Amino acid sequence: MVNLKAGRQPKTRIQVEYFGSYNMPPGCVACGNPVTPHQYEVGNSSWNNKQHVWLKFPICDECNQANKASISANRMGCLGGILLALVGGGFGSFVNSLLTNDLGWLPLLCAFLGFMAGMWLARGMSKSSSTPEMRAAAARLAGSVRMAGFKLPPLFGKGWIKLDFANPDYASQFMMMNGGKIVRF
Ligand SMILES: [Zn+2]
Repeated sequence: MVNLKAGRQPKTRIQVEYFGSYNMPPGCVACGNPVTPHQYEVGNSSWNNKQHVWLKFPICDECNQANKASISANRMGCLGGILLALVGGGFGSFVNSLLTNDLGWLPLLCAFLGFMAGMWLARGMSKSSSTPEMRAAAARLAGSVRMAGFKLPPLFGKGWIKLDFANPDYASQFMMMNGGKIVRF
């Protein structure tokens, strides 16, 4: 039940009433395969960054593996960047100490270049350890659902959440189980 139409851009926008929790369709939000206890989190923040809403969608094992690999690729990239920034900064300071004119910006420049190089190298290395299928699955998962906006319920009244789904079938299943309406296709 792989949905090939699910591209990077979510298309079906639905609006449901704001609840504490939602009934989730039985299939993986990204590919429709049977789900595992693993979840994919989407969220949004209010304009002033004071309110945050997170929703967890069940996903299958394959999508979870791909998601974990892409998260660790990003983490590795940061780590590599920081490491080479330290090396670059140290190298810049060392070169600067050999110079007769003090170039205060040299260590900073070297640290920056080190950071960029380290990030690039580490990301490349951890990416090459994942298969093209995993990268495609991670991209599909990243595009499968997005929270377009929300309004927390006021003291007397109702709030709402708007969700964008790449898979129209999943969107209508979600709506059937939780009420709500289609905002646009
Ligand atoms: Zn899946």
